[in-house]
Amino acid sequence: MTIIDGKQIAKEIREELREAAEKAGITPGLCVILVGDDPASAVYVRNKARGCKDAGFYSRTLRLPAETTKEELLGIIAELNNDKEIHGILVQLPLPKHLDEAEILSAIDPDKDVDGFHVRNAGALMLGRPAPVACTPQGCIELLKRANVPLTGANAVVVGRSNIVGKPMALLLLQENCTVTVCHSRTKNLKEICREADILVAAIGKPRFITGDMIKPGAAVIDVGINRLDDGTLAGDVDYEAACEKAGWITPVPGGVGPMTIAMLLKNTFEAACRG
Ligand code: NDP
Repeated sequence: MTIIDGKQIAKEIREELREAAEKAGITPGLCVILVGDDPASAVYVRNKARGCKDAGFYSRTLRLPAETTKEELLGIIAELNNDKEIHGILVQLPLPKHLDEAEILSAIDPDKDVDGFHVRNAGALMLGRPAPVACTPQGCIELLKRANVPLTGANAVVVGRSNIVGKPMALLLLQENCTVTVCHSRTKNLKEICREADILVAAIGKPRFITGDMIKPGAAVIDVGINRLDDGTLAGDVDYEAACEKAGWITPVPGGVGPMTIAMLLKNTFEAACRG
């Protein structure tokens, strides 16, 4: 059984990007906007800024009060859309309730939408056209490829159908010629479906939801979940110990998909900088 070391792979990607940026003579710039004081979001934003620093990128973090109005935020995004130092703009989600996420995200210049959430970029993924792709599912594919998991013809099951993970994940697996099944909270016979998966992606948000008896022997198990337990520790959506008994490959939490999300954000920022 192979434990896929996302932390190490993400480090390699940061190095590759640093070298590529140096070679191209560019300094990719990322601006992350954090509205409000959600503690988990603050950690994610810090990690993104650190990732930029590690790759030699320019990073700017705008911390705005929770009461920031729609007009103020749209004004800031409009300025960043025209800022030559900034190639990628990321609005950290979730936003405070009075701000409409879809409206805010669609104000970002699609070429600077390094999260891949803009409707143009989500549509491009659907059509198989080149565009920034959502970071977490892109990171999952990169992990599978770098671990040499066979993709063509594999039976892939994605549990979760969110716009930021489950749906783009399914489309990317389809692009890789997997046979894809998407499951969600209304799925019948979830256990049986999961048991057929050569590749099982868990993006549910429920700690240790995927139990050992849901895993096909030898399967590649990609655990996207990040769940904070009462004792302060983190758990994925997969029962890791039980899964290790069955899986052929597995990603740990932490140290699996999480670092790859940031690595793919840097990759999207680099590519945006290359486009100019
Ligand atoms: P959402 O809450 O948006 O989506 C969860 C999905 O899981 C939904 O589609 C839901 O189904 C499905 N689901 C919930 N309960 C069940 C169930 N009992 N059986 C089957 N499916 C179920 O979450 P996200 O997609 O945003 O995130 C998923 C997890 O990934 C979270 O733990 C999150 O923290 C983590 N995450 C990690 C990232 C990383 O960098 N590693 C990045 C982003 C997220 P339905 O649609 O029917 O409600």
